[in-house]
Amino acid sequence: MRILIAEDEAVTRRLLEANLAAWGHATVTVDNGDDAWAAITHERHDIGVAILDLIMPGLSGLDICRRLRSADTRDYLYTILLTARSAKQDIVEGLEAGADDYIVKPFDPAELRLRINAGVRIVNLERALRKANLDLSVQATTDALTATLNRMALLQRLDECLARARRERSSLAVLMIDIDHFKTINDTHGHAVGDHVLIELARRLRQSCRSYDVLGRYGGEEFVVVLPNCAAAEGRIVAEHMRKAIADVPFVTPEGELNVAISIGVASSSAHPEMTPLLKAADDALYIAKRNGRNRTAVDGMCPTVVAEYPLPPVVTVPD
Ligand code: GH3
Ligand code: MG
Ligand code: MG
Ligand code: MG
Repeated sequence: MRILIAEDEAVTRRLLEANLAAWGHATVTVDNGDDAWAAITHERHDIGVAILDLIMPGLSGLDICRRLRSADTRDYLYTILLTARSAKQDIVEGLEAGADDYIVKPFDPAELRLRINAGVRIVNLERALRKANLDLSVQATTDALTATLNRMALLQRLDECLARARRERSSLAVLMIDIDHFKTINDTHGHAVGDHVLIELARRLRQSCRSYDVLGRYGGEEFVVVLPNCAAAEGRIVAEHMRKAIADVPFVTPEGELNVAISIGVASSSAHPEMTPLLKAADDALYIAKRNGRNRTAVDGMCPTVVAEYPLPPVVTVPD
């Protein structure tokens, strides 16, 4: 974190610089209000505390405080107004403008040091709080095992995507993905290997997604992909790409290589504009893919019936 010194009077400016350097602070120094504002809004400067002269060319210290408090554009900036005038009215005006503290020139170095330390402490606290909030919101929306969206976040994003699709008169495709015979993988190789498969599956699915597609864990071994601006036919192409990315390359697990397959049901918002019927249509299509032999894609409206009911084939383990 750096400290901004904005002071037009050379002697005071140099005194501030020398003191702050001696106290171990990195500083950015300017001699007018406009440069002060440019430094504050320049992200790479990472300014956490600003010592602002009340009266200087360009923006005044008060102007800068008012601007800062009216626009919530950056992390908290702790402001200390520096004024030659000790009139109560000036101080009140400064605090009203949103300054956190003030100091009267000529300043007492020991006092200034303590006031700066207080500012640094508050900014550090605010930054830690901001980071903790961000971490919490990531945790609240992420599936802990696969790092995809969790069910709640997935449904929220789907809802938003559907609203946008309605607004833009476009359609989106939903892929309901389920691992074939996952219970057998767990039963044969153990739950830890099952977890390993889920993590690698999520990684491969993510690789097949565009940056604005949405991937989430819908249930235990079920994932949903939302493809904005996609018709059902395009959804099918993406689904087949994903299916092959899983089936064609064995999974390397601590227990050796495993062949894993997925079945996918595809449905389009053009046929089912509301979320619940859309998810049901994708799930019904998934059921048809399962009943027709698994390791395949079925599209809602294009494959309405079960062609053949296949028995459950065993999971093949590739020996080392
Ligand atoms: P199908 O081809 O019909 O989908 O068969 P399946 O065996 O995949 O389906 P089933 O619903 O019978 O089994 C799903 C299994 O997924 C059962 C459950 O124990 C397992 N599972 C759910 N969540 C997790 C998890 O987080 N880790 C592991 N290892 N297994 C999980
Ligand atoms: Mg001045
Ligand atoms: Mg399932
Ligand atoms: Mg399954």
